[in-house]
Amino acid sequence: MTSLFVSHGAQTHSGQVRNNNEDAFLVQDRLFVVADGMGGHSAGEVASGLAVSSLRDGATAITDEASLAAALHTANEVIHTESMMNHVRHGMGTTIAALLANDDAIVVAHVGDARVYRWVDGTLSRVTKDHSYVQELVDEGIITLEEARVHPRRNIVTRALGIDAEVDISTATLPVTIGGRYVLCSDGLVDEVTDSEISAILGRHETANAAAEALVAAANAAGGRDNVTVIVIDVSDKPTAGAGGSSDERSAQRSEEEEPSESVPVLVGASATTTDNVVATTAVLPKAKVGLSLGFILFWTALVAIVLSVLIVFAAYGRTGYFVGFEGSDVVIYKGRPGGVLWFDPTVEARTPLKERDLTEEMAQEILGNPTFGDAASAQRYVNGIRDKVQPIPTTTLPLPVTTTSSSTTTSTTSSTLPATTTIPTTSVAPTTTGQ
Ligand code: CA
Repeated sequence: MTSLFVSHGAQTHSGQVRNNNEDAFLVQDRLFVVADGMGGHSAGEVASGLAVSSLRDGATAITDEASLAAALHTANEVIHTESMMNHVRHGMGTTIAALLANDDAIVVAHVGDARVYRWVDGTLSRVTKDHSYVQELVDEGIITLEEARVHPRRNIVTRALGIDAEVDISTATLPVTIGGRYVLCSDGLVDEVTDSEISAILGRHETANAAAEALVAAANAAGGRDNVTVIVIDVSDKPTAGAGGSSDERSAQRSEEEEPSESVPVLVGASATTTDNVVATTAVLPKAKVGLSLGFILFWTALVAIVLSVLIVFAAYGRTGYFVGFEGSDVVIYKGRPGGVLWFDPTVEARTPLKERDLTEEMAQEILGNPTFGDAASAQRYVNGIRDKVQPIPTTTLPLPVTTTSSSTTTSTTSSTLPATTTIPTTSVAPTTTGQ
């Protein structure tokens, strides 16, 4: 029997939209696992974490298809029991893809839409078939695989670990293909990157680690709408020089050793590199965020336009018209509306010589009522009317002394009883402004 050399690269990332990472992965000797949790209140993280830790704990007993299936049933039980005991975690679950690289066989198992691919001689093929709603539509010939990729209900899985007490697990044992490359991934990769793109990326990177980094980077560059986790496994009959890691040398669980990104928030549009995880270095705004931003901008533009229009109307109204009122004890003509409109306060347009003390109580009351006028001239006439009542102005058509001459009688009439014209008050009325 040929002794198999196995090297791998494992990457996980929260993506460009989500703050948390509900994916988990396990690399334990030659056992590789990707889990994609689901459930509210961070229960998805709990579910995928329980799946991975359960498999890690039982790893030594996993030697073939039957024992791998048994380990997944155990993980199902662990998650389901936890969800039953904690109501906020009720209904949590996780999809899972597992691969065991034995010297004589490749054993795979999966539940849900986490996938296993095989890439040999530049050709990519799916080892697993998703347990999902859209896959059922494909199987029934209703939609194509390409349509399934963009179907609005593509994220509905028909099976997951932890949902029920029992679960159907799909397993398979494949012959070893020397020089073959295997990919385990969460749906965060396949939602963003097509199978042909995945194949092209695998062809461009010699080491498993570089390929895994490139696949995660591609998912992020395409939008990164979901958490994305990728494990690339190369099987060879000789040691691989410069491999990212050999499973004989390394074992890791994401939450313990290989998950720096979980504690390193990644800013949208920024590029960042962590020790073992790669973020898209070609910063591309995620699709969802771009859509949101445009809608956001349009919404606020429209709102600002409406508010400005309303303000203009109010300003025009608030600055229209005149009224008479008191400023202190002075009677003045105001421009604007009594009391103001919004923050458009009336302003003093013209002062008058009238004081409150000059007015009768009736007049004062009337002016306290702020009589309004359409134009300044009308307000001025109103003030003049009051002024005339409180300070009667002698008529300017005073009869002049008339002298008539007659032969016999001379009638001389004088106006000596009339007041002198010098007492006519020279009330100055402030000029009115016609411009508005
Ligand atoms: Ca997912």
